[in-house]
Amino acid sequence: MNLEAHLAPYAAHSAESRGRRFPEPAPASRTEFQRDRDRIIHSTAFRRLEYKTQVFINHEGDLFRTRLTHSIEVAQIARSIARNLRLNEDLVEAISLAHDLGHTPFGHAGQEALNACMKDYGGFEHNLQSLRVVDALEHRYGAFDGLNLVFETREGILKHCSLINAAKLGDVGQRFIDRKQPSLEAQLANLADEIAYNNHDVDDGLRSGLLTTAQLDQIDIYGRHRRQVEAAYPGIDGRRAIHETIRRMINALIVDLINSSEQQIHAAQLQSIDDVRNAGPLIRFSDAMSVEAVLLKRFLRENLYQHYQVNRMTSKARRIVSELFSAFMQEPTLLAPNYQVPSGDEALQARKVADYIAGMTDRYAMREHRRLFLVDEI
Ligand code: MG
Repeated sequence: MNLEAHLAPYAAHSAESRGRRFPEPAPASRTEFQRDRDRIIHSTAFRRLEYKTQVFINHEGDLFRTRLTHSIEVAQIARSIARNLRLNEDLVEAISLAHDLGHTPFGHAGQEALNACMKDYGGFEHNLQSLRVVDALEHRYGAFDGLNLVFETREGILKHCSLINAAKLGDVGQRFIDRKQPSLEAQLANLADEIAYNNHDVDDGLRSGLLTTAQLDQIDIYGRHRRQVEAAYPGIDGRRAIHETIRRMINALIVDLINSSEQQIHAAQLQSIDDVRNAGPLIRFSDAMSVEAVLLKRFLRENLYQHYQVNRMTSKARRIVSELFSAFMQEPTLLAPNYQVPSGDEALQARKVADYIAGMTDRYAMREHRRLFLVDEI
């Protein structure tokens, strides 16, 4: 039975996959991309996402997004759009669920701190780390390290990449050197990520009290939908009005992305996934919606991500990550044996320390920091 018969000719089809690094027999009851999604869900790194910060640290409140709920929202949005465009829902789901697997604890603060620590050792990029998790760091299968995912899933996970790193990565790095596009599914997962975080950060920002509706009313896309909600439900209460506004914003972004991408795809006259790779980016918002999305993003950066109360968390997170890194580099014998590099190769040791820290949940990093630096904690 062909589980992908409904897909557009330019979608990613399992039968045309560039395959796995370690060849495996085809799955009996699933497509190759479904198998990848299942492997991702069963991985250790996936479960860790529950205790990794998106913007607000997990213990600040039970209702804020975590990396896990964020990834699920990305997958939901990406699948809705994929079905409309007859793209491969299983592939976009796999990419969406895996896209943040390599994220450090404490969100972007953790990533920046670890990148700074790794400056002399090739840097640290969470996006590259997500690929490293699925290629090497998961130890679950007898025949190989990592999850042995298909090329198309790995290509989708590697959203950005410097040319220096691209050259070291082989097949998945090649498109950055050749300036080619990834599958439409990869392009889509990327924009679904943006739709998800822009909207849920508005919601979490309002819930935390760091953002106010009065501020957001100044932003076109929010103000416009908020007025629609008030016209439809006069006197609607605060929380309900926020949810109604945000669901309308998400819907408007999704509908715009579907319509605009359909036009782009049609104009490009695609026959196959090879045509996709040789075309420009085709999954994109209309020009008008791109402007609105940029304004919302800028608003969030200036008012939420750089809010002084968020800065306090960011600063603490930076300290925890860099102090852990220095302590382990000065005394690698503090590390469990599988993270120690007996040869004394400093760059390799640094990479292992980065793997260890990047794998930590927020609370594990805080506990580890206390264990190393507090005298009365063992
Ligand atoms: Mg994300």
